[in-house]
Amino acid sequence: MSEQAFAGATAPNEAVLVLATHNPGKLAELQAILAPLVPDLDSQAIISAASLGVPEPVEDGLTFAANAEIKACALMRATGLPAVADDSGLCVDVLGGAPGIFSARWCGRHGDDAGNLRLLLNQISAIADPNRTARFTCAAVLVRPGAADDLVVERSMEGRILRSPRGGGGFGYDPVFVPAAEDAPGGAGRTTAQMSAREKNAISHRGRAFRALAPALVELLAA
Ligand code: IMP
Repeated sequence: MSEQAFAGATAPNEAVLVLATHNPGKLAELQAILAPLVPDLDSQAIISAASLGVPEPVEDGLTFAANAEIKACALMRATGLPAVADDSGLCVDVLGGAPGIFSARWCGRHGDDAGNLRLLLNQISAIADPNRTARFTCAAVLVRPGAADDLVVERSMEGRILRSPRGGGGFGYDPVFVPAAEDAPGGAGRTTAQMSAREKNAISHRGRAFRALAPALVELLAA
């Protein structure tokens, strides 16, 4: 279905901001980050693209920031509301920053977390532990109708890739990613799949990027 078909998708009256996601976990994460910053945050003020039935655009950007911008702009055009989008992935140093923007479909099948992780481990199986450095990076974008420019932030969580998975939480590459000690005080060498969601959000690339957008979002929500 074309994006055009959704131009003017009607958001509820209370809605102030739309988040470009079809993942309820991301909406909950953004609400949890903003709750302490916006007293009396109305739970209806931030809604998701999924709840409005707005389809996801083709993400053909060459960077995390470009893809986040594509998603946010498509949503703003469809709803007429300010929109937030994020795009993230894993960048492995020895692979020259790959999988990067291809993280979700590294093995050739979009969203095949187990296949992606298996392929990555095979590709770097010969690499010695000190050289298995990597980072999760997230770009988050806020676009506002009529605003002169967009707000774009990018944040990372440094770490390294294990040789085999550990932990049952998280998603994607979490079971093989151990955050660097300086990025995860108290992490004690655990993978992000061995952390609670709260613990991971406090240090993650996405948590950091959303928190960097928070002052502008607070201003919007308080207006
Ligand atoms: P998205 O942009 O948040 O949809 O992330 C794209 C892909 O990057 C996901 O499908 C995962 O493979 C990977 N990824 C991004 N963030 C994380 C994370 O926090 N943990 C594990 N994998 C992640």
